[in-house]
Amino acid sequence: MANALLKPQFLIVCGLSAALVSCSGEGAGNSGATRFVSIQPIQVCDDLGIFCADLATFEEATRKIWAQANLDVSFLAPNRLNASRFLSIDNQDEFAELSFAGGAGAFGRSPLSTRTSGPISMWFVESIFPSEGLETLGLGWIDQNGVLIDDDILTFNNGIGRLDTVAHEIGHNLGLTHEGLGAGGVNNLMTDGGFRNSPSSLDDINPDGARIDQLTDRQIDEARNSGFAGTAPASSADSAAMEIPTTLPPLSAAPDALPWVPPPKVTPVTDLALLPEAAFAATAQAPEPIPNGPAMTLLTAVLLAGYLRWQPRGR
Ligand SMILES: [Zn+2]
Repeated sequence: MANALLKPQFLIVCGLSAALVSCSGEGAGNSGATRFVSIQPIQVCDDLGIFCADLATFEEATRKIWAQANLDVSFLAPNRLNASRFLSIDNQDEFAELSFAGGAGAFGRSPLSTRTSGPISMWFVESIFPSEGLETLGLGWIDQNGVLIDDDILTFNNGIGRLDTVAHEIGHNLGLTHEGLGAGGVNNLMTDGGFRNSPSSLDDINPDGARIDQLTDRQIDEARNSGFAGTAPASSADSAAMEIPTTLPPLSAAPDALPWVPPPKVTPVTDLALLPEAAFAATAQAPEPIPNGPAMTLLTAVLLAGYLRWQPRGR
């Protein structure tokens, strides 16, 4: 059902969007054969592995949402990352480090994951950008590998949980933005979390009930053409859970490490990410695909998907 916290001005947005893209009814077809997306959940814990963020995969809702695209989302056995400093992700650089630094399999990532293919890495943490004042429930790179989920999605909506955050962030990795390809309506999966209706149960999710979390045909095409969407199910051979050592080796010590380079003079993506959502969206519509491999410059042209912002902390 519609979110009770929706502000009146957001309804105007919906009205406009309805005229342009239809707030209901898109996304039914043209999907063809099934594609497969694999998720590597990574539970972040403190250094001793005692205190951990909650795993909140909302697997059923995620699978139902992406079934609209005939896209099968499966979750590998979770890995653990014991590293206190990542329990709270304070800035974009920390997220980039988790996502891209180190060699294959670093930071709990699947060894098969690359920036543009393989299982999508999804870290579950205690908080994301806590100093921002707005609660960021999820974060994902556009067209590249890496999702952060704040385990507070479990307590959202009086404990029902924010059922569609995981599916939304996966959409960013699959190349979707908040306003492109028909997003923007209150019932579209990829609309900014502050403007989007939130399902209260599986029965609200398109094509059922309130038909929340729809995808347009164009979004479906884009997602299915992503490098993360394979034509065959992922092998289960790599799905055995791992526990990552308490102390991570120095990044420079990993022989096949993609060196972590602080972004001193590249495009100031941090600024982009910290812009208000509306301002950011205007500049983030054309993410460039980035080739995979150690030679590329970290963070070059990387665009960070807008946040799922919600109410201020301490609500
Ligand atoms: Zn988003």
